Amino acid sequence: MTSLEDLPIRDDLRGRAPYGAPQKAVPVALNVNENTHPIPENVAHDVVARVAAAIMTLNRYPDREFSALRQALADYLGHGLDPAQIWAANGSNEVLQHIMQAYGGPGRSALGFAPTYSMYGLLASGTGTEWITAGRDDEFELSPATAVAAVREHDPDIVLLCAPNNPTGTPLSIETIEAVADAARGIVVVDEAYFEFAEPGTPSALTLLAGRPRLLVSRTMSKAFAFAGARVGYLAGDPAAIDALRLVRLPYHLSALTQAAALGALAHSDEMLAMVDEIRGQRERISGELARLGFLPYRSGSNFVLFGGVDDPRAVFEQLLARGILIREIGIPGHLRVTAGTEAETTAFLEAIAVSAPNRIAS
Ligand SMILES: *Cc1c(COP(=O)(O)O)cnc(C)c1O
Repeated sequence: MTSLEDLPIRDDLRGRAPYGAPQKAVPVALNVNENTHPIPENVAHDVVARVAAAIMTLNRYPDREFSALRQALADYLGHGLDPAQIWAANGSNEVLQHIMQAYGGPGRSALGFAPTYSMYGLLASGTGTEWITAGRDDEFELSPATAVAAVREHDPDIVLLCAPNNPTGTPLSIETIEAVADAARGIVVVDEAYFEFAEPGTPSALTLLAGRPRLLVSRTMSKAFAFAGARVGYLAGDPAAIDALRLVRLPYHLSALTQAAALGALAHSDEMLAMVDEIRGQRERISGELARLGFLPYRSGSNFVLFGGVDDPRAVFEQLLARGILIREIGIPGHLRVTAGTEAETTAFLEAIAVSAPNRIAS
């Protein structure tokens, strides 16, 4: 059989591994931080009607500038944003790829704070951008001083701040974001994929955009918005910084079906986000219960919890999987990550993991 070694693949991609979160058909999938609540039925009907209408237009290319979607996203974000300050693509992964293509590339570098979202390194390698990681403070926190010191040391072309951070869940203070934005020479991306799950009142990096043309704030419809399968991510930033992304995107990158579906979901954003409080509650329940069982959960501003104190993460992962519960091994020794699901899914997870708990509860 032919292997990659036999093919004329780029030298810098040799030996690399693709993104590979397991996709398994299990009753309780809590491994990729999706919103596990189904889309409300009336919203689904409206989305179907809009997609059906779009199908009648498929002989033509879609609106390359996705103008209606940019307007709807600007309205959703608020903060006085207008459509010229909005960009979108097939998931925020593609938005981040556009940023790497336009502002990174061979001879350039991107800096992140490990452990952080695994796609950053993969997007960097795909675009020939050097990927540099700096460390965090205790408990995976990131203070302004620690972040700024790394920016000064490495002087990257792009800084990726994940707020809150995946896979640790750690909220990132607006002070750290502001300090990095003011210290960096290059583009600063704040990935707010989980922003809707933050404590109410948490300031968004959107509040820092005015007067900072190199600051970009990315969001996604994949998490709180319960729309991962539709593949819609977006960002807000300066119109000129966004214009650069037009140089690298493929023409018509957002299909007419994607645009129609996203507009349908955004027309019902309150209903789409109705489960966010409930999910936050389940997250708190997971953290409280894991601590009681003797595990070491970290502070989370997202819809998932990272916890330490696991003697053998592989064994616990397998033991949960045998009970139809899929969580995530994220490569940090002694740690696992779990998504907050519905109340029933969360109960199934907590009951199953109690068996492997350091303070095992006799039940
Ligand atoms: C899930 C996730 C995304 C979202 O990716 P999409 O391509 O929008 O589905 C982006 N950033 C982080 C940190 C994530 O965890």
